[in-house]
Amino acid sequence: MNEIELLIELYRPMSRQGPGSHRTLERAVDLAGLDSSRRLRIADIGCGTGAASIELAGRLDAKILAVDFLSPFLDELNVRAQAAGVDGAITTLEASMEDLPFENGQFDVIWSEGAVYNMGFAAGVSAWYRFLKPGGVLVVSEITWLTAERPREIDDFWNGEYPEVDVASAKIAQLERAGYSLRGYFTLPEPDWEQEFYVPLEQQMAVLAGRYPDSVEVTQVIEAHEREIALQRTYRDFVSYGVYVATKA
Ligand code: SAH
Repeated sequence: MNEIELLIELYRPMSRQGPGSHRTLERAVDLAGLDSSRRLRIADIGCGTGAASIELAGRLDAKILAVDFLSPFLDELNVRAQAAGVDGAITTLEASMEDLPFENGQFDVIWSEGAVYNMGFAAGVSAWYRFLKPGGVLVVSEITWLTAERPREIDDFWNGEYPEVDVASAKIAQLERAGYSLRGYFTLPEPDWEQEFYVPLEQQMAVLAGRYPDSVEVTQVIEAHEREIALQRTYRDFVSYGVYVATKA
């Protein structure tokens, strides 16, 4: 089993593959000024098993295109959407976020939670700009420093994982340079990490460890996750996900 297959097995049973919550989605929907007064076309990029797509479909009058490059997550999303009674509002698309087969001005909303880092925030928000209608809104979450300075251990960790990690003011400047106008910004609260993500993730890590007790690859994946979780718990005053809501000016 290669690492991608392992990560799919670890994350597929989860309702989300990154931190977040219903409350956070609601807050982002409000900041974005979205309601069900008109039909919206929404792209959820890096949708995973569909936490955001399924909830947006339930709350809004929307036609949602849920995009991910891992088809097992899309299969799981379809099962979950059906169980939630919103499968009629969601279409899945297996595609890379770096090469999306969209037309210019196709969407009222581009939503992307915990995923844009895969291509880099600056590249992602620039590339996706043209897919929005004029006045359309981008909702994107991104790992963000909460302070100008921080302890060496967490600074080294995130710079090694993702050299684009930065403070919100730098991310907002990138959005502005890409042509967006900021509507609002907030950071994920602690329960979005702990109850909503790490608790179920640790359960799945235990399941995987039990299933493959002798696998070196499994042990390595689990240890890497344990380290990241421990660092986030220690340094949560210094780093979180920021949620950025911006309109196509
Ligand atoms: N938005 C979901 C999933 C976040 S995890 C949630 O918040 O729960 C990041 C997701 O991005 C994963 O599902 C992963 O498969 C997807 N992804 C990573 N690189 C990608 C790429 N290049 N193109 C499309 N999807 C990608």
